[in-house]
Amino acid sequence: MNLSRLALSLGQSATLKLNELANNLRAEGKPVIHLGGGEPEERIPGGAAAESRRLLDGGFVRYTPVSGTAPLKKEIAAYTSRHYGVEPGPKNIVVASGAKQAIYNFLVSVVDPGDQVVFPAPYWVSYPEMVRLAYGMPVVVRPREGRLTVSAGDIEAHITSRTKAILLNSPNNPSGQVYSEDFIREMVEICEHRNIYLLMDDIYNSLVFDGLKAPSAFNFSKRPLNDSPIVSVNGVSKTFSMTGFRIGWSVANEAVTQAMTKVQAQVSSCPSALSQAAAAGALREGDGFAEALRAGLEKKRDVMAAELSKLGKVKLHKPQGTFYSFPDFSAYEKDSAKLAARLLAEAMVVTVPGAEFGLEGHLRLSYCGSAADIVEGVARIRKVLK
Ligand code: PMP
Ligand code: GLU
Repeated sequence: MNLSRLALSLGQSATLKLNELANNLRAEGKPVIHLGGGEPEERIPGGAAAESRRLLDGGFVRYTPVSGTAPLKKEIAAYTSRHYGVEPGPKNIVVASGAKQAIYNFLVSVVDPGDQVVFPAPYWVSYPEMVRLAYGMPVVVRPREGRLTVSAGDIEAHITSRTKAILLNSPNNPSGQVYSEDFIREMVEICEHRNIYLLMDDIYNSLVFDGLKAPSAFNFSKRPLNDSPIVSVNGVSKTFSMTGFRIGWSVANEAVTQAMTKVQAQVSSCPSALSQAAAAGALREGDGFAEALRAGLEKKRDVMAAELSKLGKVKLHKPQGTFYSFPDFSAYEKDSAKLAARLLAEAMVVTVPGAEFGLEGHLRLSYCGSAADIVEGVARIRKVLK
């Protein structure tokens, strides 16, 4: 009995694998420093716990509508209107089991076998595999030497008659870079002109530093939402420290939303009712939680940048958002998997190899843990590099 060619060709999620490894080492009492993490360590908002507890105590936890509950959609619409300047109706929203499922719903809804989905490197580890899961072809746009972002022209040069969608993530996992207004405006113009979908993975859009704001694609659209090729994905995982609840969502035109709803109905019915109640509770509290998280991360970004500057030959583009940094270690070691393995074996420091994000020579170092762990982790890396 054979596995499918698709299953056999699929790579593992390096980030989730390393997260498990770090947690197992911690549980064994090993002195591990986890700089490979992908989730904030803050407690969840009080409103999230209260709302899910209320539903649980009521004793009825049932299927919800496929695309999400009305109270949660109302909060998502208010959040979207506050942060993106566009007000979606309930028929523009699908609540999914994580932003990850929202991206998958989208890809399955628009990609025909062999269609191309274009995205820049460095990219989030799951994009290429998710495109393959939809029988599409990932097309990666590489930045010029020494850069972590590409230009709109670089992306346009990779568009063909088979291009179905462009996928952007800003602020970016792993680089922490925020794409400029000019870049996003040009991308919207290109996609609207050529009728190509523009998937904006906005999961880190509230976690931006130095007084910057991550420009929203909707701001530059010349079309009403229901005629727009822009699809925005967001969720409570990062902004509200609620990764375990698995709630994300998409905002898109009604036709795409309907297709995504159909996909979700056949695959997972609906996201957990308890988690949807929790997400509504978190969103109802407003932006205070996210702002406190953001301010704390900005301080830890500064700690990470200061510690990395002590490493001499390591080059860093200072992150402008997220909780990741993506320094270039190639002056010490060009093979990022080899370096990450050495750091784990010799210093008990978990990092994610740049190769997993499509850019060799780099490591992704997170600063979502404690400042003490950042200082100790980078000090251990320094010893190994010596
Ligand atoms: N996009 C990016 C860029 C991410 O880093 C993550 C992290 N998990 C996701 C999407 C998926 O988020 P979720 O946990 O809500 O599925
Ligand atoms: N997005 C996080 C990361 O990049 C969490 C793990 C995952 O979903 O890949 O580490």
